[in-house]
Amino acid sequence: MALLSHDPIYSEDLEKQELIGSGGFGDVYKARHKGLGFDVAVKKPRQAVGPDSSLFMQSEAALNKEADHMSKVSCEFVLRIYGIYLEKSGGGNYMQKGIVMEFMQRGSIQTLQKDLSGPPPWPLAFRLAHQVALGINFLHEKRLIHHDLKPSNVLLDKDLNAKLADFGLARDSTSAMISSEELVKEIGGSYKYMPPEAFHLSYNPCRAFDSYSYGILLWSIFTAKEPYPGKNYTLVEVMITKDEKNVQRPPCDELELIAVNGMTEMVALMKRCWDKEPRKRPQFKECCEITERMYSEHEKGIDDAVREVKTRLDQPESSTKKQNPSTSMGLRNSPQMPVQTVSNDTVDYG
Ligand code: ATP
Repeated sequence: MALLSHDPIYSEDLEKQELIGSGGFGDVYKARHKGLGFDVAVKKPRQAVGPDSSLFMQSEAALNKEADHMSKVSCEFVLRIYGIYLEKSGGGNYMQKGIVMEFMQRGSIQTLQKDLSGPPPWPLAFRLAHQVALGINFLHEKRLIHHDLKPSNVLLDKDLNAKLADFGLARDSTSAMISSEELVKEIGGSYKYMPPEAFHLSYNPCRAFDSYSYGILLWSIFTAKEPYPGKNYTLVEVMITKDEKNVQRPPCDELELIAVNGMTEMVALMKRCWDKEPRKRPQFKECCEITERMYSEHEKGIDDAVREVKTRLDQPESSTKKQNPSTSMGLRNSPQMPVQTVSNDTVDYG
């Protein structure tokens, strides 16, 4: 086993392990840390099949890289890492089998969308948009590019505050070019959040990648919809990389009908973020300024919004949990809501 650069957390330190989610990479468990006395989450990569397999060695390196990135960014809006998870192998030696992280009680933006069957009340939607921007801005300040921003990678704490998770694809902004083949293998199901330039034969890691993904994520937060439903990798590539006139992005017409303070500005931000030209996309410092302004107009409603959502999430399945929270929130014309290590210059936006 490689030398551990993070605190070891042994399987015996944890109890009551329970599967709470699965992704392309592996499974996520909730567990109680006996010594610390609180719940943690353990992410275990699926390819860790055995102590002697090369697959395991690969995942051990990937785990260490992910843990390194996470510990580099200690910030309120980024998921905290507690250590590397170690389990005894058949031979009696401890092997690295995962990462132990902060447990997020309210799942992710993706699970919230499913549970509410629509967008969250607007104050919460604007706060999520702002908190994600703050998290990514922090990462970029630390010269890291996230590369996998999407609803399932924005986790929610007990009061529905957002924290960025899943640093498996994160890269230092000075890292070498990645071939599109390598990127696609790593990015798996996240291609709908991937910018046009990353579909090319090789892609030069740049922060504008995250700006593009953020634009699509904002659209998803405010519509509670999946972009390009039913479209596979090849179709999405064709749709988003066409020439200027025919290029496609998620539709904003329904959002533009919503008479809510800041919505017009929010749609304008989405559109700037998903611009085909990386250098035209806003950097996160500017995104934070815009989203802070928008959120400040809704801040007085945030406590009610959080209380409302928590009440609905805590109701049993069969009750009104799935009512659309935004139906009473000011549609202008329609009676129906849409169901709902970088240098700090701008070179990587050009
Ligand atoms: P992929 O890895 O393919 O991109 P994903 O993001 O859904 O997909 P995971 O990162 O493995 O996959 O997470 C799976 C699910 O587990 C998440 O969507 C989330 O609901 C839950 N989850 C992940 N980490 C935590 C955590 N720290 N606390 C609580 N729930 C978590």
